Amino acid sequence: MQRIGHSCSRRHALAFGSGILVLALFVVGIAASARQGGRKVGYDDTPFLPGGKWRVHDGTRPQPRVIDPGTLSTQEAPGKPPSDAVVLFDGTDLSKWQTDNGQPARWKVENGYMEIPKNGGTLITKEPFGDCQLHVEFATPDPPQGIDQGRGNSGVIIMGRYEVQVLDNYQNETYPDGQCASIYGQYPPLVNASRKPGEWQTYDIVFTAPRFEDGKLVKPAYLTVFHNGVLVHNHAEVLGAMAHRALPRYTPHDSKGPLVLQDHGNPVRYRNIWYRELKGYDEP
Ligand code: MG
Repeated sequence: MQRIGHSCSRRHALAFGSGILVLALFVVGIAASARQGGRKVGYDDTPFLPGGKWRVHDGTRPQPRVIDPGTLSTQEAPGKPPSDAVVLFDGTDLSKWQTDNGQPARWKVENGYMEIPKNGGTLITKEPFGDCQLHVEFATPDPPQGIDQGRGNSGVIIMGRYEVQVLDNYQNETYPDGQCASIYGQYPPLVNASRKPGEWQTYDIVFTAPRFEDGKLVKPAYLTVFHNGVLVHNHAEVLGAMAHRALPRYTPHDSKGPLVLQDHGNPVRYRNIWYRELKGYDEP
């Protein structure tokens, strides 16, 4: 009995001791997070920002994750994606892609890019994703063939629904809401920043997926798009899924969907495709 009592109190002491230790580590952790190389950063006597969680210049606020931002592309070579990007195409293989009926992707891969072959079919990512920063590079055929919508037509269709048009609009007119970098059938780009046929062009897209509750739209999708580094859509409210000669409308869907590259019968090329999942402030 005595032995048991003894070991019990020892256990209590141990538990109490480790509790103190955890608490101490917690306090040290907080203190350390407010220090940068032993130096205290920020302020703890400033007013709280709206939301009441962080003070102005709060040194205990989580330090943003450190990532390698990668490099920009040139005409000669694709850049390096940010270290936290999900790479969908790095110029070597189509392992992240399939056809619309789940068959192996048929697009031609050579010289660090993929190209839409005859009857290549739509290309779809195997993995779905939602809110994202999406980077895509494309080149329309050189020499160009056809006119209007028949010249270098493809499309970056997010969640298989919301299309940022790919088209050769270098000295080629078409209806404005269907030209290169338009949100197809909804908004023309703010400017036509197209490069010449055969030249590599970039889309940098920030996409917020629509939200549905009980089968009803509660928040539309939003698109911010840079074409060749130039802003062409500034937080544009998406009106619904892409439609041809019809009004766009929403139908409820999951919070994630696959990315689709359209085969419109023209041998458009793509390279360096990646996305980063969007996260909020102060998230690990
Ligand atoms: Mg298209």
